[in-house]
Amino acid sequence: MFQGELKLLLVEDDPEDKEIFNRMLSKIDGLTYSVKWCSSFASGKQEILNDQYDVIFMDYRLGEDDGVSLLRYAKEHGCRAPIIFLSSETGREIYKEIKQWGALNYLKKGEVTPDHLAIAIDYAIEIAAQYQLLREIASRDGLTALYNHGEMHLLLEKEMNHARRYNASLSLIMLDIDYFKAINDSFGHLVGDCVLQWLAGLIKESSRSCDINGRCGGDEFVIILPETSGDSAYKKAESLRQLVEKNPYSDETVSLPVTISAGVSELSGDDTKVSFIDKADKALYCSKSMGRNCVSYEIG
Ligand code: GH3
Ligand code: MG
Repeated sequence: MFQGELKLLLVEDDPEDKEIFNRMLSKIDGLTYSVKWCSSFASGKQEILNDQYDVIFMDYRLGEDDGVSLLRYAKEHGCRAPIIFLSSETGREIYKEIKQWGALNYLKKGEVTPDHLAIAIDYAIEIAAQYQLLREIASRDGLTALYNHGEMHLLLEKEMNHARRYNASLSLIMLDIDYFKAINDSFGHLVGDCVLQWLAGLIKESSRSCDINGRCGGDEFVIILPETSGDSAYKKAESLRQLVEKNPYSDETVSLPVTISAGVSELSGDDTKVSFIDKADKALYCSKSMGRNCVSYEIG
């Protein structure tokens, strides 16, 4: 039923209830686990955004505070672990309230048995795995499996926050196939699709593991480069441009030269997400207007 060691978080202000919970866990056959205990709303708030937990258990009443506020805080700040409430009260009202904020389930204190707990944990893990799979599918472009437009925006925001917090550099490459419409018109949409997949493959192959690659629609691709100066991003874009130029796309029926144009921008202190993207976009436009098959760098 259970695989590997599970990391559990318990937010519970009553030490006796914590002991009861621990005793129940110890009676579950085949469960290997560790539990981190937070005894207050404040300590729970600090720990709950720590990404490492498989399942979070939370008391409905936390002294002066309530678990539902903590649940809201967790969900509003992107906590993805399944959350199960432990409550001495029961009723549809509680269920409705916690469900509205994204809790998975609740168990009634005093009535819950090790079997109930085992089933609740198993179910939570299963749901979390399915949710993760759906998120993965929803975040990818169906044709190339690179990140899609929406996900790239979320990831860019995340990387911008990280770069600002740690005073790190961050760069962006925006690239676009030259005269792609002509490829579609001459060889058909299916070949066009294969060219997009082939280019996605080259982008992936030439990436570091921390680079974030996306297709933002049509024949336009974006690469987010964490910890990378504009100069290094320019070199990376230029080497990708050369790689594409030197390796014509080919399959059983066609062999055709493909070129790309690219624009590079580096995050500066006063950039917003929009201005950061806009700089790369303007640089790309500049490459197109200079005759294509080249890279431009917009300092901003
Ligand atoms: P430029 O050199 O200025 O970039 O010109 P272009 O022809 O590459 O650009 P344009 O924006 O005129 O054409 C892009 C084409 O990409 C038009 C659209 O039909 C095609 N396209 C968009 N999405 C897909 C797709 O998923 N598959 C295929 N095969 N074509 C697509
Ligand atoms: Mg194009």
